[in-house]
Amino acid sequence: MAEIETKCIHAGYEPKNGESRMIPIIQSTTFKYDSSADMGKLFDLEAEGYFYTRLANPTNDYVAKKICALEGGSAAMLTSSGQAANLFAIFNIASAGDHVVASSSIYGGTFNLFNVTMRKMGIDFTFVSPECTEEELNAAFKPNTKAVFGETIANPSLVIFDFEKFAKAAHSHGVPLVVDNTFATPVNCRPFEWGADIVTHSTTKYMDGHDATVGGCIVDSGKFDWMAHKDKFPGLCTPDESYHGITYAEKFGQTGAFITKCTAQLMRDFGCIQAPMNAYFLNLGLESLPLRVERHVANATAIAKFLKNHPKVEWVNYPGLEGDKYYELAKKYMPKGTCGVISFGVKGGRKAAEDFMGKLKIGMIATHVADSRTCVLHPASATHRQLSDQELIDCGVSPDMIRLSVGVENVNDLIADLKNALEN
Ligand SMILES: *Cc1c(COP(=O)(O)O)cnc(C)c1O
Repeated sequence: MAEIETKCIHAGYEPKNGESRMIPIIQSTTFKYDSSADMGKLFDLEAEGYFYTRLANPTNDYVAKKICALEGGSAAMLTSSGQAANLFAIFNIASAGDHVVASSSIYGGTFNLFNVTMRKMGIDFTFVSPECTEEELNAAFKPNTKAVFGETIANPSLVIFDFEKFAKAAHSHGVPLVVDNTFATPVNCRPFEWGADIVTHSTTKYMDGHDATVGGCIVDSGKFDWMAHKDKFPGLCTPDESYHGITYAEKFGQTGAFITKCTAQLMRDFGCIQAPMNAYFLNLGLESLPLRVERHVANATAIAKFLKNHPKVEWVNYPGLEGDKYYELAKKYMPKGTCGVISFGVKGGRKAAEDFMGKLKIGMIATHVADSRTCVLHPASATHRQLSDQELIDCGVSPDMIRLSVGVENVNDLIADLKNALEN
């Protein structure tokens, strides 16, 4: 199975003779065994299988396997949300007293998770500009640094992550690079091919793609050699007393240790599991992902050009648009295109932005992005409402900024809708 379109349909689940063609929804909390000895083997991580859906469920695993194949990874797991995926991906390797280097251009929810909540857990973060020099980046590392984090296409700033620069710095300091690949999806970017070690997703966005389910996923490349940096990663490289003295990196090797530990410890203790029914819906979204992503990119490119040439539009950010600040980096890492999200400013500032949005008929006002329906958000009057105009500018959100998430509707209808709202 070489190509991604084929994997989106077939990877992860192969029905045997007479079995259901679609993945079965195993809507069961628990699983039955013939003997206590059989069950005991599961608790010892000696045998593969399921015993309680708070830790793992077969439906989820079929879908995780599909996403794993799309990213070219070695192991994967679903989580209840994108937030849970990023929490687990970092907390699996960093605990109280540790430190993480993160790009400052990341999703606001992730920034808050790191900068507020995970600090309360005792983990320290240094945020670096995605445009920092190699020297500045290297200077951010400390002896207790355990990971580097970034976003392929940052939500909402649309900054493109320079994988090679960040991977080089991470690996020269003996730590993995963790990348949130939500906006690009594996259709447009495969971070493992550029040096990332762990990939996370909010599957709530393009992967589900239909406004139906909140979910997340973590994929391991299997390429990071934990045992070569034994002192930094005691959780993976020394015995886990809460699991009968298992050493994950020895027992499950480089390809399986990260996800096994994450399931056995973090899913066991936090229980941020995705409902099997949601995993089923997510799988439906994945089947058409390449078709939708292609259309999102085509529509967004046409709309970015339309906006760029419109006299009432002050500025346009779209990394797929020639002349954009990130066009060259986007071309390098995402030759097939970036995503469907554009940000732009209308002339007349905050008031003009609000008026414009109120006049849209197809584009709906919603906090959601990266979905089949076109939607718009004015960050200054919604997600960033509490900030003053100066504070907005300081955090890269200008008062006139509109985030437009271009859907898969007919592009002429969308352009007519935007034109009407701008001109009337
Ligand atoms: C939405 C989003 C998240 C959070 O995902 P949820 O599924 O809403 O928890 C994380 N990262 C990025 C890039 C996102 O866009």
